[in-house]
Amino acid sequence: MIVEAAGPAVVGIDRDRLAARLAHEIEAFRESHPRSFELSERSRSSLLFGVPMSWMARWAGGFPVFVQEARGARVVDVDGHDYVDLCLGDTGAMAGHAPEPVVQAVADQVGRGSTAMLPTEDAAWVGEELARRFGVPLWQFALTATDANRWALRLAREVTGRGKVLVFDWCYHGSVDETLATTQHGVVGPRLGNVGPSIHPALTTKVVQFNDLYAVEQALAAGDVACVLAEPALTNIGIVLPEDGFHEGLRNLTRQAGTLLVLDETHTLSAGPGGCTRAWGLEPDIVTVGKAIGGGVPAAAFGVTAELADRIAARAEADYEDVGGIGGTLAGNALSLAAMRATLEHVLTEDAYARTIPLGERFAAEVAETIDAHGLPWHVTQLGCRAEYRFSPSPAKTGAEAAAAIDADLDRYMHVYALNRGVILTPFHNMALMSPATTEADVDAHGKVFRAAVKELLD
Ligand code: PMP
Repeated sequence: MIVEAAGPAVVGIDRDRLAARLAHEIEAFRESHPRSFELSERSRSSLLFGVPMSWMARWAGGFPVFVQEARGARVVDVDGHDYVDLCLGDTGAMAGHAPEPVVQAVADQVGRGSTAMLPTEDAAWVGEELARRFGVPLWQFALTATDANRWALRLAREVTGRGKVLVFDWCYHGSVDETLATTQHGVVGPRLGNVGPSIHPALTTKVVQFNDLYAVEQALAAGDVACVLAEPALTNIGIVLPEDGFHEGLRNLTRQAGTLLVLDETHTLSAGPGGCTRAWGLEPDIVTVGKAIGGGVPAAAFGVTAELADRIAARAEADYEDVGGIGGTLAGNALSLAAMRATLEHVLTEDAYARTIPLGERFAAEVAETIDAHGLPWHVTQLGCRAEYRFSPSPAKTGAEAAAAIDADLDRYMHVYALNRGVILTPFHNMALMSPATTEADVDAHGKVFRAAVKELLD
């Protein structure tokens, strides 16, 4: 997610040359995207920051490309450029853009009513399918992963009667107040740039480093933590994989402390049809998931174990049906559910992962080949159909280590260089995602551009 600080200079990269090449690429981008530039300028008078959503201002060229259409793994912009899209809406379009079964299901449902605050048959189908995939039986729906996480935290507090949550440093779980926290030397504070925090996060949140079971144990010891909210692997500060035994330890410690374990699979759904929960045999009390499961239509979900469901239902005074703090008018609407059903039934299938995960491997192998060929102190990490290169010699074990390896200028150069040659990378760090519509040729197009970008920096 949003990365705040530039890290140390990377060995082997001449910073003056980098600055010159970056300036050249930005100029080339400006010249070759006149229509996007014009729309961007026009939007400044009616849109805050000149974009419909402030994150869209982040693109490396100084202004975003305006989209004409997006299909499969490709985006065409208003200047007629055709891109291989490895960003895929920062996972919102991991099913590919406009997948045909979703287009049909949505068109059909929209003509039969999008939202009635009443269930449709699709809801039962999707609940059953999510239960099968993630191994937790009882589901609820939301429109964003942020909301799924917010409601999971509320339920965890409600049933445990505890006030605090524990998260890992440099996590991102959406704009959830409790999670926009960081730690330095054990002192919890607001994440740098946190916009208008409601209260100081130390009042709600404990923060420890990923992979540090000792710190987890210490943080849970006081018995005041309702839940740990974690991605199975960090993905929003680059991919940080769990070390052997980390998840087993985390589960044991949370059980011993009477703390619930919430796993956010929104990005780690890249690991397989049931995310890391299924791929690694994890045993969360709550799973949250959003973005990709709607095939491009806003949709999210959270699922709970049978035991937790009983505890939730037993809270006689909790108002789950009106203004108690859980729910949204459009949550679980018929359109989102039709889209989720079509996505899970026909698009993000077992067969699809059997194609997309090897594409992730191919991406990683091509990038690694270039890194090795030049002896660069960089590496590439992969999690299923998601892969990412980082400007440090070896994979980080913690979010803090991953954050220290950020090189904002180098990121920007790689992104705009790729953009100028028809490849879109996620604007946050160097993440690439494969959809069922992505081809080997798409991956190779990136490999070629990456090789050329590196060569131009070093020659
Ligand atoms: N969880 C994770 C792991 C995420 O990466 C994100 C967004 N990047 C969210 C939750 C929030 O998703 P949304 O912005 O769709 O609410």
